[in-house]
Parts: sequence; C-alpha cells; structure tokens
Amino acid sequence: MSELQVLAGREIIAQSHVRDTLLRAERLPHIWCPGCGIGIVLGAYAHAVERSSIPVEKHVCISGIGCTGRVSGYMNLDSFHTTHGRAIAFATGMALFRPELEITVISGDGDITTIGGNHLIHAARRNVDINVIMVNNFNYGMTGGQHGATTPLEAKTYTTPYGNIETPFNVPYLVAAAGASFVARWTTLHVRQLAKAVERMMEVEGFAFLEVVSPCPPTFGEFNGFPEALDMMEYFRKHCVVDHSADLSKIGIGLKPGEKLVVGNFVDRRRPSYQELLEEMRGRAMGGEHK
Ligand code: SF4
Repeated sequence: MSELQVLAGREIIAQSHVRDTLLRAERLPHIWCPGCGIGIVLGAYAHAVERSSIPVEKHVCISGIGCTGRVSGYMNLDSFHTTHGRAIAFATGMALFRPELEITVISGDGDITTIGGNHLIHAARRNVDINVIMVNNFNYGMTGGQHGATTPLEAKTYTTPYGNIETPFNVPYLVAAAGASFVARWTTLHVRQLAKAVERMMEVEGFAFLEVVSPCPPTFGEFNGFPEALDMMEYFRKHCVVDHSADLSKIGIGLKPGEKLVVGNFVDRRRPSYQELLEEMRGRAMGGEHK
C-alpha cells in the first residue's frame, strides 16, 4: 500500500512493505536455505492478505511440521504451528467453530499429502471452506531429504538412493476428484499468478487448494540435477505450460528433461461448502423438520 507523506517540506509517496505489518520482524532472519522457494510463497500469501477485503484480524494461518511449517511463525497473524500432518484437521475444527475466520493452511508436501494425506482428501470431499497451500519440493527437506508421496519416479533422495520406485500422487487430480471447489498449481517462478491464485482462494466458498512447485537445492536438488539455487527456476522457465483447462489425469510431475510441467487455475466451481450445508441443516432442525 502507498500513502502520500510530507518529508522535509516535500510530498513523497511512501510505499509500505508487508514486512512492516504482516511479518513478525523480530523472528527474522528466517531459517530457510539460500535458493529455497518457501519465502516466495510466504510473500504471495502476505500480499494476498494485504489485498484481501477480509480484515487482517480475521485471517488465520495454520502450518504443520517441516520447513514450510515455519511460515505460520513468521506471519504476524493469529497462527498455529501444529503437529505433523494434522494442520488440515486443526483448520477444519477451527473453521466449523468460527466460520467467520479466513483460514489458510500453508505446509509442505510431506505434511499435507504423505503424513496428512487422509485429512487432505476428506477435507476436499467435505468441501470444508478453508484454503490449503501446499509447497511441493518433492521431499522431506527439514529432516534431511527423505522421499514422500510426491517424489517423482526414479528421483534420488536419501531414502531412495537407487531411484524412487513409488508412483507419486498427482495432487491436483486427487483433490479435484475428491470434490474441491478450487484447484490450482503454480511454481515459485510464477510470482504474480501465485499471489492472484491465493487472492482467489480467499474469495472461494469451499475447499481451495494450491500446489506450489518449489526448489529445495540442498536436499532434493543436489541429487536430481538442480544443485544450484537457480537450476530449478530455469527448469520451470523452460518446461512450464499454462493450461487452465488441462486434463488433470495427465499432469503428474516427472521432472524429466523435455517433459512439460502444466500449471494453471484448473478448477473453480461452486459447490455448497460443509459450513453452508451445516447451516442449512441447523435451519431445518430449528424449524422442526427433523421430527
Ligand atoms: S531444506 Fe529445502 S525446503 Fe528446507 S529450507 Fe532448505 S531449501 Fe527450503
């Protein structure tokens, strides 16, 4: 945001920065490695909160455990750093008890799809009105680089030194099939699209999911041809294709040379949210229709 100020008798346009109000400056510098993409996601979320028509005091940020889980601690909002894989469960409880809040879960792929995968699919199935931003760096970065449910086939990690033999989740396809109202995928190269997608998620009634493909140079990148900070950004630049109407069954990520990485806002549909259905049921019960 900008405002007109008078300094030494001259009018200047002063530009405020989200770190002035929306970040806990006393907790900086952050812990993330050089070249990590999580800071870009944090910035996109902070800017979306700033631009949102919802008052700041109504925004809540919830994270699980892992490198991305640190986001909730850096945001100057009501925030919760919860147990591993359970951020969506905490968010669901809060959203049902305090439906006026705008709740956003920000966590990593290990937390959201591997340890917490069951919570993810059921929150999407119920269409709980929360936002979930999943930073996908294809491994458990904080604990040293173990493979998880999004590690591409044949990728090398500390626990798959000969290459991953497990087929990874195609997460947008999974979440869309489960019933989410909004599903998108962008990368940390797509800074503006990312922020716009987060803004849209805050408007959507129902479960809104965003996968952000992000570099992790020291653990995943080191073993898979992206050792330097810019290597994966360069891969995104060369391989990303924007296709909002993509066939989601065909957008799994392999990270192979020459393979497309499809990004876009894939699903934006109106389905009654869980909170709306509860409210409707409560109205019927109060009206005596439950007898
Ligand atoms: S280990 Fe990977 S995900 Fe974690 S802070 Fe470092 S670069 Fe980021």
